[in-house]
Amino acid sequence: MNNLDSFNSARREGLKNTNCLVWTGIRQAIPPELRTLEVDVNEVMSLEFQCGETAFNPPTSRSKYFYELLIVKKAEVSRGFIKWKEEFRLDDVAISKAFLNVRSSSSETFVRSFRYKILSDIVFTNNRLAKIGYVPNDLYTFCGIESETVYYLFYECFSTRLIWNKFSSFWFLVSGKQVKLTLQDVLLGILDTDVELLNYFITLVKLHIWISRKRGVAPNLTAFKKIVKAKFRIEKYVAIKNNTYTEGKFQARWQLYINSSQEL
Ligand SMILES: [Zn+2]
Repeated sequence: MNNLDSFNSARREGLKNTNCLVWTGIRQAIPPELRTLEVDVNEVMSLEFQCGETAFNPPTSRSKYFYELLIVKKAEVSRGFIKWKEEFRLDDVAISKAFLNVRSSSSETFVRSFRYKILSDIVFTNNRLAKIGYVPNDLYTFCGIESETVYYLFYECFSTRLIWNKFSSFWFLVSGKQVKLTLQDVLLGILDTDVELLNYFITLVKLHIWISRKRGVAPNLTAFKKIVKAKFRIEKYVAIKNNTYTEGKFQARWQLYINSSQEL
């Protein structure tokens, strides 16, 4: 049946307030495999379908219900949310904080999305890649001793421990404060700190580990410091260009680093 015939046939069945063009648009939007589907006429007479526990009937529903239906999927928390919540015995408020902190930690989309990947537990470590046959074995790229999970890659391996220890010394030079990072701090960021810069640096160390892994070179502090310097220069340049260098945000964010940069 062509578009016009089907339009006329629908009109004979009582279709009102539309035209052939709209009808054709709707018809074309139906996936090809469904166009020839055998259907029970009685079933088609009702547009009602089951959504979770409730039955949803479009003709009798108001916009509000359509909206609720649309956001139902989006409101579900990610796998990582549940995983880290259980793993670190956090409540909803605390784990939500980890996700919310991502926005304030960096304006760079790439850095943010990397942090989201870890939080959402969708980082493709060898442990996962080996399961789908993408790499021959699941061992950590650098040491080749143990399975490369997010825990091992970002925290547990001795090569990783080394960079975190060096980072702690670096942070001491920047802030004058000792920091002992736990597995949770490394994976989720520090949840209750007023020093945004520390969380940003933790993310940059993880990113450095991740990129080093891809390149097959061991992460090292000299390279990390270069990354920090480059990020600082870029943000400074942007702040000067936007005439916000002397005020608020940029200074507050980088204050510790600016004060200590002579010694680093
Ligand atoms: Zn190792």
